[in-house]
Amino acid sequence: MDTLGIIEKMLEEIEVKLNCDFFDNRKKYENIAEKIIFTGQIDKYYNYKFGELEYRSLKFETDILDEENYQGNAVVNYTEYEIPYTRIIEHKHFEYGMQNKTIITREYPDSWNKGKEPYYPINDDKNNSLYQKYKQLSENDNKVLFGGRLGQYKYYNMDKIMEEALECVNKEIL
Ligand SMILES: Cc1cc2nc3c(=O)[nH]c(=O)nc-3n(C[C@H](O)[C@H](O)[C@H](O)COP(=O)(O)OP(=O)(O)OC[C@H]3O[C@@H](n4cnc5c(N)ncnc54)[C@H](O)[C@@H]3O)c2cc1C
Repeated sequence: MDTLGIIEKMLEEIEVKLNCDFFDNRKKYENIAEKIIFTGQIDKYYNYKFGELEYRSLKFETDILDEENYQGNAVVNYTEYEIPYTRIIEHKHFEYGMQNKTIITREYPDSWNKGKEPYYPINDDKNNSLYQKYKQLSENDNKVLFGGRLGQYKYYNMDKIMEEALECVNKEIL
């Protein structure tokens, strides 16, 4: 089975709703099933009962360039102090794009506050011990399973998050 086939099978008879914020209609989503898997911010889920966790954010700046090739590679990292962005993505190189133009995105580190995307957790002692309080609370909560980088306040790469999701299915569903 190809990747598309696998995804279609996973979504068979599943109702998918996009652009819905759990917190806009919390009661409805909480009562949709006996147990829910929540992949948003665990501190927000518990109404910041113990305080707010901190995150790092990012800013992206995208340009269409009038040239076929900018950097010859999908990703180039920049570690120099003087350069404000940490990497440049050149999208066409992910897919062997043959277009006359090229699109690049510069990625800048950014501080986080409410309303911005919380891209990464800040796993220092202060935030980790605050997270432990939410984790303990969640362990006595039979209604919800917390998954992913925001639910478990942890940095995950794609392979690790897939492993984590499969383990959760094995433990909770199969
Ligand atoms: C800029 C960037 C580059 C990365 N590059 C790599 C890479 O090169 N290689 C690699 O292995 N990993 C990379 N990662 C990490 C990878 O993206 C994550 O590990 C992965 O997406 C984590 O999956 P997740 O399910 O935990 O979170 P997400 O993929 O963020 O999924 C969480 C889901 O929950 C939904 N959600 C959250 N809150 C709410 C709410 N209130 N209501 C409704 N829905 C909600 C979100 O919309 C989202 O769909 C990168 C991450 C970033 C930010």
